[in-house]
Amino acid sequence: MRHIRVPMENAETALREARKRRITMEGYSVFNDGNYVYIPVGDSDVADFPVVDVEGRRNRRPETPQRTSGSFDVIGEIAIIKARDLDKAHRIASAIMARKGSIKSVYMDTGISGEYRLRNLVLVSGPEMRSTIHRENGVVLKVDLEKVYFSPRLATERLLLSGRVKDGERILDMFCGVGPFAITIARKRSAEIMAVDKNPSAIELLEENIRMNRLKGHITAAACDALSYAGKLSGMDRIIMNLPESSGEFLGAAIGAARKGGVINYYENLEVGNLGKRMREIMDLGLEIKAKREVHSLSRSERMYSLELIVS
Ligand code: SAM
Repeated sequence: MRHIRVPMENAETALREARKRRITMEGYSVFNDGNYVYIPVGDSDVADFPVVDVEGRRNRRPETPQRTSGSFDVIGEIAIIKARDLDKAHRIASAIMARKGSIKSVYMDTGISGEYRLRNLVLVSGPEMRSTIHRENGVVLKVDLEKVYFSPRLATERLLLSGRVKDGERILDMFCGVGPFAITIARKRSAEIMAVDKNPSAIELLEENIRMNRLKGHITAAACDALSYAGKLSGMDRIIMNLPESSGEFLGAAIGAARKGGVINYYENLEVGNLGKRMREIMDLGLEIKAKREVHSLSRSERMYSLELIVS
């Protein structure tokens, strides 16, 4: 049977992606051989992951909290849920706490607000604890949800993007947060990365995260406005634009900072029906759209899209 095969350190990311796309084979287990994790996918299309043909293992495990209580995000020792009311939130939190021993606190997310994109969180279960250490793709990230934005849902995106970077690239990460893109890339590649965020707390945590990880690349962290920072740069090989509600406002500055043939990894939240129009607008700016990917859904009709753009 066909299985996705990924190194152990990338297992959580690959599993989350496989479950999101509903491609894991019902009735068969995920297993590992000490070095690699094998995710049964049968005939599903998984072009962006390595696939091998090995014997499947029948599943006798109980249901997971995802199946019993809706999906939730895990950031280190914290689980973040969405729920219509506190009663439902308490039921979901109990199921999570019963099944996932690593979770210490569960919060209900009631929305994201402000320029720093902070989550409004209501404690549902466990002690008040918004600072935690999150692990993904072999990197460790200190996150404080009281002060900074962070989403574990982009772990696959960060893994795929870091795989496309070459040694020696000069990269600008315009909205870096605590540095998940920058750190994931610098762990793998000897790239020169300028990481910028307007939120000083995000930059403080990024500096800690640089110290906590063994990196091949070099990261320069700057607490300032991405627009003015990008305005002083030119000839960048790659620009990462992860401010999906308003990246478009910064696209002109990114084009100015990139070299001819340089790459812009661009994220935008869009209604599904508006994607074609937005892509035409982007091409009218003189950008080639080399690749397009749906990162995750935000509602029935809205998605976060990832576009790989080439500056001409
Ligand atoms: N890339 C990070 C990640 O994956 O966790 C953070 C992404 S978050 C959606 C957007 C970030 O952009 C926030 O940390 C926010 O503080 C920052 N931001 C918002 N406006 C900015 C601006 N004008 N210049 C620089 N950073 C900005």
